[in-house]
Amino acid sequence: MTGKNDTIAAISTPLAPGGLGVIRVSGPRAAEIADAVFKSTRGTLAALGGYRALYGKIYDGGASLDDCVALRYVAPASYTGEDTVELSCHGGVYLLRRVLSLLISAGARQAGPGEFTERAFLNGKLDLSRAEAVMNVISAESEQALRAANSQKNGALSRKISQIKDKLTETAAHLAAWIDFPDDDIPPAESEEITDGVKSALAEINSLLAAFESGAVLRGGVSAVIAGKPNAGKSTLMNLLAGYDRSIVTETAGTTRDVVEETVSFGGITLRLADTAGLRDAADAAERIGVEKARGMAKNAGVILAVFDASRPLTAEDEELCALCSGRPAVAVINKTDLPRMLDAELIKGKFCHTAEVCARTGRGADALAAALRAALDYAEPDLSAAILANERQRDCAERAAAALRDALRDAAAGQTPDIVCVLLDEALAALMELSGEAVSDAVTEEIFSKFCIGK
Ligand code: GDP
Repeated sequence: MTGKNDTIAAISTPLAPGGLGVIRVSGPRAAEIADAVFKSTRGTLAALGGYRALYGKIYDGGASLDDCVALRYVAPASYTGEDTVELSCHGGVYLLRRVLSLLISAGARQAGPGEFTERAFLNGKLDLSRAEAVMNVISAESEQALRAANSQKNGALSRKISQIKDKLTETAAHLAAWIDFPDDDIPPAESEEITDGVKSALAEINSLLAAFESGAVLRGGVSAVIAGKPNAGKSTLMNLLAGYDRSIVTETAGTTRDVVEETVSFGGITLRLADTAGLRDAADAAERIGVEKARGMAKNAGVILAVFDASRPLTAEDEELCALCSGRPAVAVINKTDLPRMLDAELIKGKFCHTAEVCARTGRGADALAAALRAALDYAEPDLSAAILANERQRDCAERAAAALRDALRDAAAGQTPDIVCVLLDEALAALMELSGEAVSDAVTEEIFSKFCIGK
């Protein structure tokens, strides 16, 4: 992205019809450019103080396009740290595009993806890990993911990284002093005073890394497959999980031919669900594709929801499903518990670590299913206010810092010269500064912000 001193504009609300649509203008000429298209009987935006709004109209030449409320922010107290105007119009896609093009004709430049947040970062309004948290707030698909992202946005990770850095800087300073003044009374590299500092920093980073691994379910959800013989109640279960009718539920066996996918938040876990065509050997080609897909998908799934019909005796297909689930994260869902029991449920329970009895049609047993699912995924309720690494980039920086610290401890124990230990501590510090964004290259910054959506 170029020209950080110019004035940018973008539609900041989704491009779909809505009650309101907001266009954001940020940069030194924000008020002047907005004044070129927005007119109010109560004065201009340039003359308006910060955090005040004006009601007026958007004009294209002499023609008025829409009513508008313009909100004015004055640098540096705005999201970007620059002069900003937010124009709230009606949320029409064509209308918003027209207003944006008028602003561009008046001298604004169309903002690139994430450019508002990039400016906030460049103007020192938020560090990189907080900027990345903004992206996670936007993409959050569950209450948990949103709370975790908000806690990062409020600086939980930044504070943690800065504590670790302080600890390491102090240790590195000790070591440097010892190298420069070896005769003074300063503890040597292999002394406990030095290694304890490194060990405790390493332990903190390791716990961040461990939380990142277990937080994968929280961030991206888990891919789940609903498997079972035709008519077991897979579609009904999927609808129960999704909370609305997404796939066709029918009394005829084998009508769910292709795979339908849906992301749902169930029991606090985001499930990326795939309904399948069942596991039986189908006669016609269309069904075979579905069945083959189902088998393949079950193999790669994060969790399998194996559905059994409690109102029918066990069949070879049920047995096949049990075999498919063996050794995998799976929950046996014993369905249709409202009907007279024909299935030997105990036999199924013996083959699965986690089972839940449900009536998918009415939703009875949904809580027990959620609990079984959490147990199958080994999902512990995360501390959402704690520092959490938000993405692969941050994980990679933490990993490099941890590796350098492990090497430093090994070299210190082996009696290597303190210079080498010092270099490794610097390496760890550099990786941590990259994590927080204090020392990150322009290329990395641009890469990060390019993943944002336009208007953010
Ligand atoms: P699928 O082929 O496995 O996707 O099965 P469906 O979800 O299409 O369900 C097959 C039939 O079983 C439908 O008539 C459903 O209404 C019915 N069904 C599903 N779950 C239940 C349940 O818990 N109780 C009863 N009585 N019927 C159910």
